[in-house]
Amino acid sequence: MTAPVLSVNAPRLIADLTDLGCIGRVEAGGINRTSFSAADTEARGWYLARCAEAGLSVRQDGVGNLIVSSPAVAAEIAARPAVWSGSHLDTVPNGGQFDGALGALAALECLRRIHEEGIELQRPVCAIMYTDEEGSYAHLLGSSALARGFSRAELEAMVGRDGDRFVDTFTAAGGDLDAAAQTRIDPGALHATVELHIEQGPTLEEQGIQIGVVSGIVGLGGGVVTFLGRADHAGTTPMSQRRDALVAAGAFVVALPEIAARISDRAVITCGMVSVRPGSANVIPESAQVSVDFRHPEQGQVEALEAAIRDTARNIAAQYGLQVGIDLEESIPPAPLDRGVQKIIAARAAARGLSSVSMPSGAGHDSQNLAPLVPTGMIFVPSIEGRSHCPEENTSWEDVENGANVLLDTLIQLAGG
Ligand SMILES: [Zn+2]
Repeated sequence: MTAPVLSVNAPRLIADLTDLGCIGRVEAGGINRTSFSAADTEARGWYLARCAEAGLSVRQDGVGNLIVSSPAVAAEIAARPAVWSGSHLDTVPNGGQFDGALGALAALECLRRIHEEGIELQRPVCAIMYTDEEGSYAHLLGSSALARGFSRAELEAMVGRDGDRFVDTFTAAGGDLDAAAQTRIDPGALHATVELHIEQGPTLEEQGIQIGVVSGIVGLGGGVVTFLGRADHAGTTPMSQRRDALVAAGAFVVALPEIAARISDRAVITCGMVSVRPGSANVIPESAQVSVDFRHPEQGQVEALEAAIRDTARNIAAQYGLQVGIDLEESIPPAPLDRGVQKIIAARAAARGLSSVSMPSGAGHDSQNLAPLVPTGMIFVPSIEGRSHCPEENTSWEDVENGANVLLDTLIQLAGG
């Protein structure tokens, strides 16, 4: 096995992660850098300045994805299908410092090293920054636009987390809706893609393993279930005559972990939102709406989870004498990642003396949109205590450096170095 020829400049990468981590930092301790917010715009400007400083060229597509390349690459090589690597700069509200930022900045660091050392490769390597990964407007907006595209009507119908229309926010930020609707990637323009990301779960840390080689990204389903009963006086209606929507919804929420356990130990189901009407302490709830989010690495099991959730909701509604509305969105299928890229990642980790394990990703990533089109891989590094999407999200600098070096080696091998 060939020894690594190049390593990342770890102090520079750490300085970048630290600087970016100051943008959008709030008093609560976390980072508010939701897409198209002032902080997100500042972060993009900061990223563009880093690219300019390094002498790299940047192209922005119709939805604001940034594609960074080295202008020193010979025209004949630059015309070949590229190796892409990147992630996102946006965060969830009060999120952490490493989700997205690590993959975006490590990819930039890898490209900088290849560029500044004048490493000649058979294919161009590009760093990419995807717009709105966290889905303020649409789940994985930037990579979804590349993979399948959005019509004007779809873009016009998008409403943000804060109730604002995507069209208004996007055009105010200088975006052009027609260009956004025309954004697509030609799969022939790509040779492979690789994304470095924090695990966002506890597995690597618990097992004391340095690198996760992601085998695939779980399938995801979800939506809302609404139990409908009758509003009555809280003091005068005997317990035996109530049609209490919230009591039924409570029984449903309690049943969710049991459904997951019955299907598989890799199944997860979450209810993260409950809304009760009319919402008064002295009125029996007429309606109770609960969210459901369910995930599994296999499509058949995603379907089994959905069927079990529907059955359970209907049975509980019947048991309590209520009506139920089940409104689940079309599920997102699991995205298996490329076996060839997985092999390269595992071999490159081993060549640096790092331990690795094959594992699925329970979280969604832009890579799942690229995976059906082009050979795609993902590298995970440990999250301390498995925490993510919160201010405590953290990864040791040693793991940051290890992950970035495995990414660099993988990109060089994929690009024919
Ligand atoms: Zn992420």
